[in-house]
Amino acid sequence: KRSRLKLLRDTPSSTLDGRAIALLANIEGPGDVTHIRAANADGVGLYRTEFLFMGREDLPGEDEQFEAYRTVLKALAGRPVTIRTFDVGADKMLSMPNQREEPNPALGLRAIRFSLAEPQMFRTQLRALLRASAYGQLRIMIPMVSHVQELDQALTMIALARDELLAERHRIADRVEIGAMIEVPAAALAIGMFKKRVSFLSLGTNDLIQYTLAIDRTDDAVVHLYDPLHPAVLKLISGTIQAGTRLGMSVSVCGEMAGDPNYTRLLLGMGLREFSMHPTNVLEIKQQLLHADYSELAPRVQRILRMEEPARLREAVMRLAN
Ligand code: PEP
Ligand code: MG
Repeated sequence: KRSRLKLLRDTPSSTLDGRAIALLANIEGPGDVTHIRAANADGVGLYRTEFLFMGREDLPGEDEQFEAYRTVLKALAGRPVTIRTFDVGADKMLSMPNQREEPNPALGLRAIRFSLAEPQMFRTQLRALLRASAYGQLRIMIPMVSHVQELDQALTMIALARDELLAERHRIADRVEIGAMIEVPAAALAIGMFKKRVSFLSLGTNDLIQYTLAIDRTDDAVVHLYDPLHPAVLKLISGTIQAGTRLGMSVSVCGEMAGDPNYTRLLLGMGLREFSMHPTNVLEIKQQLLHADYSELAPRVQRILRMEEPARLREAVMRLAN
């Protein structure tokens, strides 16, 4: 099966009715570049930079980060590379001493909240990112935004880092796109607040499902209740795709749903045009969309989204997939 899929490596990814779809890779560092090449992905949709910080006692400095980011940007030769600022906290704790004990880590100081509470660490990362921007098409992505003030503070820090670097005579790309991850229900329900602030949105469905259903994705005792097809989850995903697209932002999904062939047609029918996934899933998802017809799927998916009985809805999604 794998070898048949390999034949699709250089086939342009578009639906039967000619709708172009971007298939991007989720990576954890420069070591994943070989997987991106094997799949011929259209770029990187999620670079989880916190892996640079984990499993060590010290923090990576500006130069070390710069090297890691630059390596990926250069290897992608002009294709978009979406680098997420560090998403530490909750299930991705740093192994540094003196970490604060949190009563409820998933609802505590994680992702952009952590970054804004540790401005020196954040500034170092932003400087490394902007320096690397000279070597390819960098997009900076901010995780777990719930309030626009968080985004505004991050944008201000990015502008400051840029001014500093230019004054130090560093080379920086003229244009670096900034985007927000939509992984908190509050953000998904208020997409309008992102307009004019960012140019792209990326749905982190792993966390969006966890926060919508109030199910800790790391707790075995409740994990059976974790359900991508809960009607509320599907409403948030399709609402984000529609509102974001209408407001002129590009929208992608970078959670596990994007790499699961059971959901490819559902997401296509919702209007999604950018999927980001583990690079080893790219060709299987491409195979799915090569056989899908968007104009036929869109009205079917609209009907599915109106279904109120979860069992019927699930059955309809499964029929869609086969
Ligand atoms: C997500 O939440 O869907 C996501 C892509 O981010 P992570 O899994 O790294 O939290
Ligand atoms: Mg997440």
